[in-house]
Amino acid sequence: MKKRGNRAIIIGSGVAGLAAAIRLAIKGYDVTVMERNSSAGGKLRMREEKGYLFDLGPSLFTQPQNIVELFALAGEPIEPYFSFENVPISCRYFYPNGKQVDAFTQANAFADELANKLNEDPQAVHDYLRDANDLYQHVGQIFVNHSLHKRKTWLHKRIFPALRQSSWQHLFRSMHRFNQKRFKQPETVQLFNRYATYNGSNPYQAPAMLTLIPHLELNEGTFYPKGGMISITRALQTLAEKKGVKFQFNTRVDRIIHHEGSVRGVVAEGKNYEADLVVSNADIYFTYLNLLQDSYRAKKILRQERSSSAFIFYWGIGTSFPELHLHNIFFSGDYKTEFDSLFKGHSWPNDPTVYINITSKMEDGQAPAGKENWFVMVNAPAHRGQNWESLTDQLRDLVIQKIETRLGKSVRPFIETEFTLTPADIEQQTSSYMGSLYGTSSNSRFAAFLRHPNFTTHIRGLYCCGGSVHPGGGIPLCLKSGQIVADLVPTPAETHHA
Ligand code: FAD
Repeated sequence: MKKRGNRAIIIGSGVAGLAAAIRLAIKGYDVTVMERNSSAGGKLRMREEKGYLFDLGPSLFTQPQNIVELFALAGEPIEPYFSFENVPISCRYFYPNGKQVDAFTQANAFADELANKLNEDPQAVHDYLRDANDLYQHVGQIFVNHSLHKRKTWLHKRIFPALRQSSWQHLFRSMHRFNQKRFKQPETVQLFNRYATYNGSNPYQAPAMLTLIPHLELNEGTFYPKGGMISITRALQTLAEKKGVKFQFNTRVDRIIHHEGSVRGVVAEGKNYEADLVVSNADIYFTYLNLLQDSYRAKKILRQERSSSAFIFYWGIGTSFPELHLHNIFFSGDYKTEFDSLFKGHSWPNDPTVYINITSKMEDGQAPAGKENWFVMVNAPAHRGQNWESLTDQLRDLVIQKIETRLGKSVRPFIETEFTLTPADIEQQTSSYMGSLYGTSSNSRFAAFLRHPNFTTHIRGLYCCGGSVHPGGGIPLCLKSGQIVADLVPTPAETHHA
């Protein structure tokens, strides 16, 4: 028997790594975060260009309670570091047939909007949102709060209501088929199909279990963090530092050291660092392939399909477009073909769906006065060595043409500044294998169970968090993975068999 020490190393400072660091520090660990980039946040970072502020990755913020909870747990006031406001319209949808819909996060307003603009049955909308809520409360809560790989999860008293709630349809019907059964209008089906992309999946393959995702946005609401999404990273880093967490930036971890089945530390920048506990926030494929040099287990990870990636144009726009909102979608005319291209053809469709996020709609200072900061994103196939630079001009033309046609206005002459993020950049800058936004996709009905657990089965003291492991990608789930890790690790004073 050996006393467990309290030195913990976290590899990576993505949101999950930050959440795990805070929780482990609160638990009594002496925590060091090693990050290969020069700043924290991973995908959640920002860049300023000629007075325009651009959040580089996530733009949609749901479930702020996960961050509130971290401050409460740490016994620190949140107000000086983080604030957010409710956004009553979660997204403005533009259809190629000229229809336009606002997704209100107030159920009656949303049902009325769909009835008025799309001739959808308002009761179908109410029923759908009620069922999404039930599914989330029963199945979702178990899934996001616990490791699926521990017996005690399956003995939890909530497991039986969860099993009762999930019908064969949720597992064996695709999200698209499920939505088609529930709504009479194809535009409504397309709108609800889009939620599969919230974890980088294909609605024509992913199980209807994903119909719980709209609950998070449409029932619980969407939010805007003051200062933009980067304020999430800043708030979590500040909280971690207040709890004594140390950060080593520009420090790439090259290897995880383990001996006789127990973790011993890491090698970073040619130096050995001892630790009693190591948490990898790096992509799980790279964790096995590079940090553990275990190509057998790395290969096993690849049995699960990767989530989709994205191509992003960041445009400083020298005027304002009153017809746009904070979140905007310009739908493609053929959604099925779009997903077939992304997941089967590994290429772009001719008519991609375009997402535009404009934080200057919410807050002065995000762009110069009278101007707008456009984050323009198109879903992209996983990175397989494509030459993205050579595709940039073609994609830019497609995207601009689509927006200009739908709005009946010029966009191109107003682009004052531009830079891009390709799937290859996402892989290179955040070590996300194939540039995936959300780790693995949920296209298989078993995806939730096949995703890597938050611990390793063969190395004691080695844990994993982040979008490529349970419960999956996206800020809320990544924050939960930090919580699950902290729940799994013993307090430093506990003993274990060495
Ligand atoms: P990551 O952000 O992947 O960070 C991992 C960190 O580990 C990186 O900083 C990396 O440098 C570091 N690292 C890796 N290897 C090493 C090593 N060997 N040594 C040291 N450091 C290492 N989510 C939402 O909720 N809403 C959205 O609207 C949304 N939109 C998105 C749009 C885009 C363009 C992208 C890219 C993602 C989006 N996501 C969104 C997903 C979300 O950003 C991610 O799921 C989440 O941020 C991932 O966090 P993570 O903790 O897994 O770590």
